[in-house]
Amino acid sequence: MKTSHVLRSWGRILQGRAPALSIEITRECPLSCPGCYAYEPNHLGGERTLRQLADFRGEELVRRVLRLIEETRPLHVSLVGGDPLVRYRELEKIVPALIAQGIHVQVVTSAFRPPPRSWAALPLLNLVVSIDGLEEEHNARRSPATYARILKNIESSRITVHCTVTRQMAERPGSLAEFLRLWSDQVAVQRIWFSVFTPQRGASPAERLSAEQRQRVVEELLALRAAFPKLDMAPSALRQFLKPPASPSACIFAKTTRTVSADLRTPVLPCQLGGDPDCAECGCIAAMGLAAVGAYRVGGLIPAGALFHASHWLGQKMGRLRRRRDAAPELVQIEPVLSGDSGIDPASAAP
Ligand code: SF4
Ligand code: SF4
Repeated sequence: MKTSHVLRSWGRILQGRAPALSIEITRECPLSCPGCYAYEPNHLGGERTLRQLADFRGEELVRRVLRLIEETRPLHVSLVGGDPLVRYRELEKIVPALIAQGIHVQVVTSAFRPPPRSWAALPLLNLVVSIDGLEEEHNARRSPATYARILKNIESSRITVHCTVTRQMAERPGSLAEFLRLWSDQVAVQRIWFSVFTPQRGASPAERLSAEQRQRVVEELLALRAAFPKLDMAPSALRQFLKPPASPSACIFAKTTRTVSADLRTPVLPCQLGGDPDCAECGCIAAMGLAAVGAYRVGGLIPAGALFHASHWLGQKMGRLRRRRDAAPELVQIEPVLSGDSGIDPASAAP
C-alpha cells in the first residue's frame, strides 16, 4: 500500500469517516452456494433478509450509488452482493465513474458471466473472482459458475482469484498446492488470495475448520509462497489467521469499512460478514491484512494498531461534533484541529 494512501486513510479516520465502503449492490445472485453468509437469515440482524430488501436497478441505481459516494467520500469501494455482475450494465457506468474520482474499486463476483471487456484496461480496479477449491468441489458448490465457465469468462480480463478454504478443502492433502498450480498458470490471473471460512457464533457448519486444520493451512501457505509468486499474501498476514482480532471493536477492518446492503441504507454489522460472526475463528483476508498492519511496531516501539484505535476514538468524537455543528452551525463552534482544514488532511494529497 502506498504511503499516500495510508495517510489519506488516516485523515479519513481522524475526520470520523470510514476510508472504505462496501456495497451489497444487488440482492440477486444466480448461485446458491452452501455457507454463503449474505443469505443467512441473520445477515442483516434478523428483521429482514437480503432477499427481502428493496434494491435498485438502471439509472436509479447509478444515481443513488454516486450520491452515496459523494456523501461518504470513501477512498476504497468494494462492490459485492448478491453478485454484482447481475447489474453489469449499471456497473459499466458506476465503476469508471468511481475510478475517475481516484477511488480504488473492488468488484467481487463468481464470474457467472463475463465482466465488461473494457475493465481490463482500467487502473485502480481489482476484479476478484471467488473460487471454492478444486474443480469437483467448486462445481458442486457453485454451479452454474463452474470452472469451465469461469475460465471462458475471464479470458480477456485481469483478475484476482479468491478462495475461501473450507474444511472439505483442508481435509484433502495437497489441495492448496494443486489449486495454486492450476490458477497460477492462467494468464488472466494476477494474484491469488485465500480466506478461511468464518462461522457464525455457536454454529457448526460443514465448512468450519478445526484449530489443527487452520494451523496446517497457514503453515502450508507460508511454505507455498516461494513456489507460487502469484500467492499474494504476506507472511505476517498469514500468521494473523492464528490470532484473529478478539472482537469487532478490536478489528481494524470492521472499524475502517462501512458496509451497506442492497437498499443502500441498511447497515451490515459488525463487519462485511454480517450476523454474529465468530471473531475467534475469523478467516477474512482483509481483517487479517489490517491486523498484521496493526501489529507492526512504529519506530520499533508502538504498535500501529494502538495509534489506529486512538485515532479512531478521536475521529469518532470529531465526527459527532461535526455532525452536531452541521445540524446547528450557529450553536457549536469547532476549531478545525485535525480536521480536513488543518493542513494535515491527507485526503487532499495526490494518490
Ligand atoms: S455467489 Fe456469492 S453471493 Fe452468490 S450465493 Fe455464492 S457466495 Fe452467496
Ligand atoms: S472481520 Fe472478522 S474479526 Fe473483524 S469483526 Fe468481522 S468476524 Fe470479527
